[in-house]
Amino acid sequence: MNERSEFLFREHRLAIYKRTDRMFAVLLGLQYFAGIAAALWVSPRTWTGAQSAVHFHVWSAVFLGAVIVSLPIALAVFYPGRVLTRHVIAVGQMLDSALLIHLSGGRIETHFHVFGSLAFLGFYRDWRVLISASIVVAVDHFFRGLYWPQSVYGVLSPGNWRWLEHSAWVIFEDIFITLACLQSTREMREIAEKRAYAEFVAHQREQDVKLLEQTRGELKIALQSKEAFFSMCGHELKTPLTSLGLQIQLAKKVIKQNREDSPGYLMVEKLVDQTEVQVGRLLRILQDMLDHSRLQLGKFSIYPSKISLNELVRDVVERYQPLAQAAGCCIWLEGNETVEGSWDQARIEQVVTNLISNAIKYGSQKPIEINVRRSEENAIISVRDHGVGISPTFHERIFQQFERLEETHHIAGMGLGLYITRKIVERHGGTVRVESELGKGSFFIVELPLNVSELDYEAIPSASHDLDKADLTPQHFH
Ligand code: ADP
Repeated sequence: MNERSEFLFREHRLAIYKRTDRMFAVLLGLQYFAGIAAALWVSPRTWTGAQSAVHFHVWSAVFLGAVIVSLPIALAVFYPGRVLTRHVIAVGQMLDSALLIHLSGGRIETHFHVFGSLAFLGFYRDWRVLISASIVVAVDHFFRGLYWPQSVYGVLSPGNWRWLEHSAWVIFEDIFITLACLQSTREMREIAEKRAYAEFVAHQREQDVKLLEQTRGELKIALQSKEAFFSMCGHELKTPLTSLGLQIQLAKKVIKQNREDSPGYLMVEKLVDQTEVQVGRLLRILQDMLDHSRLQLGKFSIYPSKISLNELVRDVVERYQPLAQAAGCCIWLEGNETVEGSWDQARIEQVVTNLISNAIKYGSQKPIEINVRRSEENAIISVRDHGVGISPTFHERIFQQFERLEETHHIAGMGLGLYITRKIVERHGGTVRVESELGKGSFFIVELPLNVSELDYEAIPSASHDLDKADLTPQHFH
């Protein structure tokens, strides 16, 4: 960082040197023409009797002036920013002052040009150029004061120490300009240090962001392969489990047909019933795992067709009635109007199943009421239980993946059912929400648009690539 700040400081200083060199090139040029104009105006001609000729001042302004300004201007144009250029310019500027003083006949007012020039040289912010300039002033005043006093002081006998008096005023001004140069250099250094630090911080941040992006990319790949692995396992497990389920149903039929009320038969029947429940549970878990993987990989699709929602819900309720009774509660299906629309039958069944099985799990063995009806634009399914309830703080969070309430931790679950439910409903262009309070039961409401054709679903955004979202960690809140 020190090296960088030194580099920035030098770069800034060089830019100032070059800029000031250019400024002096213009100034010297203007002064040259101003000198000629002044000579032409003050004493254009010299007289010897009736004969006149161009005055010597005009020639000095033209030729001597050209000699004085040409080298500094050339250096400023071809070698800007060099040490030599600065010092030659300082010397040239002061010689130009001397010429102007001479052309004005040593008028004291023209001496102000010297002080103005010193101030201009201060633009370099390099106090060393003031030394070159001041030496030129002192030497010029000394020698011209000695051999040609009229040219510099406008009088014939100015006194031996007049050059010292002038030089002292120059030194007086030099002191202030030098102090200003030193302070300005200090400030330039501070600016360079701050810039170098800011660059360093920006660079660090850029590196951090790159690293973060890289890690994120790696994480995404890792999660994708994990999801792909789960998906594969799920598919592999699903086939034997499904055939196991079918075999159990077959076994149940055989048992029913050959029913004997012997204790052995009854026990086998009970065992088969229990196995059926467990297999059903395993299949549901598998289904959730597979759906979750599909959602993560952005491969969650729906296949809508014309269905009757009230019939679908009735079927699910009938299927779940024995389970509800086994859990000590019963399900009431309300509303008998026909509600038809275009939805994915299997997915909507999944939604209703999730809500009913939650109502059984968390319903504290109290009655469950299900209602299917229609409003002007929507089909509405609502599931009400009178169980543990949900505090309003968590009404939104329970729809996120792996979110489970502290109060229900003792009941088995993965925290995926409602997450998948919401994704399915959203994919149909609908909404799902809960109204509930802790200890006062829950009321889940699903609204599905009625007038959406099968084709319209193409326009509904896919159920999202959840891996693209930042929060990838499973969460449990208490
Ligand atoms: P799971 O039931 O497998 O845990 P869900 O996504 O279906 O996952 O539900 C998430 C959480 O929301 C549950 O763990 C439970 O804490 C809460 N919850 C869901 N339905 C109900 C309900 N009817 N009554 C009370 N709490 C519920």
